[in-house]
Amino acid sequence: MASIASIDNAFSLIRGRIPGQVIIQYTDSCNGKCPQCGMRVTEQFKRSKFSEEEVKKIIDAASKQGVQALSFTGGEPFLYDEEILNLIRYAGDCNIEYIRTGTNGFIFRDSDSLGFEDKIKRLAESLSRTKLRNFWISIDSAEPETHERMRGLTGVIKGIEKALPIFHEFGIYPAANLGINRNTGGIGKIPSKMSDKNEFYTDFRNAFKEFYGFVINLGFTMVNACYPMSVDNDSKTDLQATYGATSTDNIIAFSKEEKIQVFKALLDTIPEFRSKIRLFTPLVSLYSLIKQYEGHGEHCLPCRGGIDFFFVSAKDGNTYPCGYRGTDNMGKFYNLDVKSIKEKPFCKKCDWECFRDPSELIGYLINSINNPLKFIIKNEKDKKYRELWKKDINYYRACDFFDGRKAPQQEKLKKFEV
Ligand code: SF4
Ligand code: SF4
Repeated sequence: MASIASIDNAFSLIRGRIPGQVIIQYTDSCNGKCPQCGMRVTEQFKRSKFSEEEVKKIIDAASKQGVQALSFTGGEPFLYDEEILNLIRYAGDCNIEYIRTGTNGFIFRDSDSLGFEDKIKRLAESLSRTKLRNFWISIDSAEPETHERMRGLTGVIKGIEKALPIFHEFGIYPAANLGINRNTGGIGKIPSKMSDKNEFYTDFRNAFKEFYGFVINLGFTMVNACYPMSVDNDSKTDLQATYGATSTDNIIAFSKEEKIQVFKALLDTIPEFRSKIRLFTPLVSLYSLIKQYEGHGEHCLPCRGGIDFFFVSAKDGNTYPCGYRGTDNMGKFYNLDVKSIKEKPFCKKCDWECFRDPSELIGYLINSINNPLKFIIKNEKDKKYRELWKKDINYYRACDFFDGRKAPQQEKLKKFEV
């Protein structure tokens, strides 16, 4: 029998709406030193943090408004581990279905110390008693020393390798979270500026292969790719990040032409690894971003940021359409009436995968339900898009829609061998 949530979802889709997603930046404090991020510990600005009580008000409102996905991000959320655990429990009690959080990995330092395994066991056990669905661990490079230098966190890779089997024992399957950058495959593998596009493509192909091989060997069963969040120099946008996870450092600043090659390389690499590790990144989203950067923006669907998806900033406690439209302050989340938002999706100003990927995947479904004629015409005009979308959906099903509380089903993944 269909659940109330699934009936509600069906109605949402018919109304042209996607089940809501809220990202709560619990704090902008961090102990990492990442060059790709404006929240690194070396940046001088006044740090902020929510109180548990304020976040509980947001969760209550989210739950009442039918929000199904809620993420706790930072900064580094696990600087406040007890509070984050309490809030995960609270969100679970409020029936939020998809609860996510993650760490930069600092908790995996000192893995040779007495008590490391017990500490990880305690964390894994505490998380396993909540309804947390996904737990991410950031990894920036296929080279341990490069990753650790970038993060400023020595010894974490060894700790992650030790910790993963413990998490798995408790039924938690963490995802490696790659923030795509020029060190993805290791230091010096990607030039600081593209001179030949075929070479640049090949360099990134190799970097992605190295990276996926590396995280599989570490013991991860799931991986995601965060698209580089730096506004490229060629485009004139009015974006003003409220989420500090962006930087103009060359390590993540790519020109439009470079981005096309990065996304092409990823699009071509993913199928080789889909049978080996559960890989979130949808092919259809990459295909659309490539088209957009090639000047065919009509191919990709607009982002649901500010309509179904929201970002709540640690800095002022207010809601924004996303982490990058910092001039569109929507006020306190608990004062918003999400269902009455009439604006239609329009924005394609950045590549933030948290919002762009689901907007593309589910947006296509909405169009097919609400505008079948347009849907048929689009299908006919762009058969590759339809083919990739179908592949993605089949793959998502084989991955239990990336349920981080379930082990991968190897038999199902095997079908995606190429
Ligand atoms: S990317 Fe994450 S770990 Fe690195 S400085 Fe930013 S918030 Fe901290
Ligand atoms: S595309 Fe989405 S995430 Fe990017 S600026 Fe627009 S609303 Fe924000």
